[in-house]
Amino acid sequence: MVITHNLGYPRMGAQRELKTALENFWQGKQDSQALLDCAAQLRAQHWRQQAQLDWIPVADFSLYDHVLDTSYLLGNLPQRAYAHGDGLPAYFRAARGAQDACCNVAAAELTKWFDTNYHYLAPELQADSHFSLHPELLLAQIEQAQAAKLPLKPVLLGPVTYLWLGKSRDGSDKISLLQTLLPRLLPLYAGLLAQLAARGVQWVQIDEPVLCLELEDEWKLALQSAYAQLCAAPLKIMLASYFERLGENASLAASLPCAGLHVDVAHDQSELPALLAQWPQQKILSLGVIDGRNVWKTDLHAVLAWLEPVARMLPERLWIAPSCSLLHTPQDLTLEQDLPAEIYSWLAFARQKLEELQILAQAINHGRSRVQEALVANSAAIERRRHSRLIHNPQVQAALASLTPAMAQRQSPFPQRAALQAGKLQLPAWPTTTIGSFPQTAEIRQARSHHRQGHIDSEEYRRIMQAQIAHCVQEQEALGLDVLVHGEAERNDMVEYFASHLQGYAITQHGWVQSYGSRCVKPPILYGDVSRPQPITLEWISYAQSLSAKPVKGMLTGPVTMLNWSFVRDDQALAQTCRQLALAIRAEVLDLERAGVGIIQIDEAALREGLPLKRSAWRDYLEWAVQAFRISANGVQDATQIHTHMCYSEFNDIIEAIAALDADVTTIESARSDMELLQSFANFDYPNQLGPGVYDIHSPNIPSVSEMEELMRLAAQRIAPQRLWVNPDCGLKTRRWEEVRPALRNMVQAAQRLRAQTLAA
Ligand code: GLN
Ligand code: ZN
Repeated sequence: MVITHNLGYPRMGAQRELKTALENFWQGKQDSQALLDCAAQLRAQHWRQQAQLDWIPVADFSLYDHVLDTSYLLGNLPQRAYAHGDGLPAYFRAARGAQDACCNVAAAELTKWFDTNYHYLAPELQADSHFSLHPELLLAQIEQAQAAKLPLKPVLLGPVTYLWLGKSRDGSDKISLLQTLLPRLLPLYAGLLAQLAARGVQWVQIDEPVLCLELEDEWKLALQSAYAQLCAAPLKIMLASYFERLGENASLAASLPCAGLHVDVAHDQSELPALLAQWPQQKILSLGVIDGRNVWKTDLHAVLAWLEPVARMLPERLWIAPSCSLLHTPQDLTLEQDLPAEIYSWLAFARQKLEELQILAQAINHGRSRVQEALVANSAAIERRRHSRLIHNPQVQAALASLTPAMAQRQSPFPQRAALQAGKLQLPAWPTTTIGSFPQTAEIRQARSHHRQGHIDSEEYRRIMQAQIAHCVQEQEALGLDVLVHGEAERNDMVEYFASHLQGYAITQHGWVQSYGSRCVKPPILYGDVSRPQPITLEWISYAQSLSAKPVKGMLTGPVTMLNWSFVRDDQALAQTCRQLALAIRAEVLDLERAGVGIIQIDEAALREGLPLKRSAWRDYLEWAVQAFRISANGVQDATQIHTHMCYSEFNDIIEAIAALDADVTTIESARSDMELLQSFANFDYPNQLGPGVYDIHSPNIPSVSEMEELMRLAAQRIAPQRLWVNPDCGLKTRRWEEVRPALRNMVQAAQRLRAQTLAA
């Protein structure tokens, strides 16, 4: 008999109930009991939705983040979070920081969870970190599940991955922290496992996704010593790896003395034969057969074709599950009322993925005939998708086929372009600009939502948006900025906005996925060949340009970011899909240029996060990603200035790729690192222009003139001042005008001071 289980379930609730409860609690509208009640109800509901599983994950639920939960469990919240006692107040102080009468507590650092768009709170580690077990939140979830008589399988984050995710607070390197701290953690884990066993828990899932990375030897040794010790516990451990093949860690993972190992084989079964050939007697193999990170129906026949023989080889020792926690997919497809029926029929969200798992298990345990009807329906949907006219667009295919290398190439090298652009734009030294968006006021959001709901017609909507643009342009002129923007009032989200104007994309109503804490994102679904039926931003940007004699910068989202922040079709290579996006954006770029827009910014906020987990795959990714950006940007004349923007601060690894984008100007996040990150640009001798952000827009603080002037001076020690721009480090949409106005006024003044000194020198 094949056994079914699940690694984790979405936590937010199908209607984002947890978000509402958390935000009400934080605003003091509800007490902690109301929040805990909501959490308990959601868990009960989610368990009911997983009732058919043989093993149901428990303690995968979190009020904010499962890594933070682990820090709590191990008594390793930052010390500063305990100012007002422990329990929930400390937990949320660590998560969100606090500014109140008594103290100013910085939140722990938010970082991306592997290559997903989920963010965890990085554990803070130092050589003298000491841990203590605080299992009460975890045990409360287990007690709730036991009271409901569920076949429960608690989920823990493993000690090695926990240490791998940590940030050093005392300058110690990660490996020495690993070696110092792992021996302190293991007794706590062992103690916890003993407590769980005493409560009758039979199986516990321990997640070690680091198993899918290319690890230094110290980490491999750590895994060996950790599981040699933990597997002595009086219960069974299902060690879970996910997001990738095991690769070079396959033998290591199989040889750890755990009762079971979970392997992600949803996309790639190539390492399965070797694993099976050396599979230890008695050990359970759990296969992640359904993609836990995307929204497509699984081709059940295709899976059965390779899964049935495996099941025959491992009778009684095979489990099946989604590849990873379903945290990364929306919860329930049946809530979608507006998707075209055909597209709807190709999709499976979390609930539907568990139904698929059930069908597979039935087919294996009782023969395919038992689930004949479901299998036939599944094949029909897969077959319809494969041949759908919605997906295949011969014009797009033809355009791709006629791509030439010249299309990714500017006409002249940067120095020649820069001279032409300088002549045309006549900008002062230390030119000032912003990253694109200006405050999204209640008024703006209301106008968009009224338009969407049909309360106002398109004419009225246009009038309101034009008024917003005019206001934004006026403000920027009054501030004295050199390169203006239209302000992005029409955009709810930088990816969804473009997706909703491109063919090949569908937008969901409820397809929310947790990004961090109570924040969710709703990635659009890229299902077919992408094309741009009409100009998207042209009207807004030309309107803005018509209002000012200063250059207005056109704002677009780049192909790699569109790709990385969407649910993407799985029926062709990502590189191919990305090139289609690039062609659609290129058409927009050329339309803007033709309309007289002299500066165009193509945002690639998500270029870095698309890096594959295995370093050996980076080169290939960067090659096609850079090429896609260049296709989107490089059709323009030399005198047209291309900007790009990236909001992160680690460039060392990818500096060559950044340079290869060949954007005339690159704006980056750097305010918080005191321009240190510019060192990688300096070492590399980065040739083009650079706008290192001097205003940290993530904070409500208003930076002073001298602070920003000083930052630019630091920048000028590394990059020639003639190549520097002065700008904030990201868009301003989350800030209020009351914050933005004085901050930008100071920024402009800082630039003026720098100019005066340059002239005097
Ligand atoms: N142009 C976008 C904005 O200003 C860029 C956002 C981003 O980098 N995340 O909002
Ligand atoms: Zn940004």
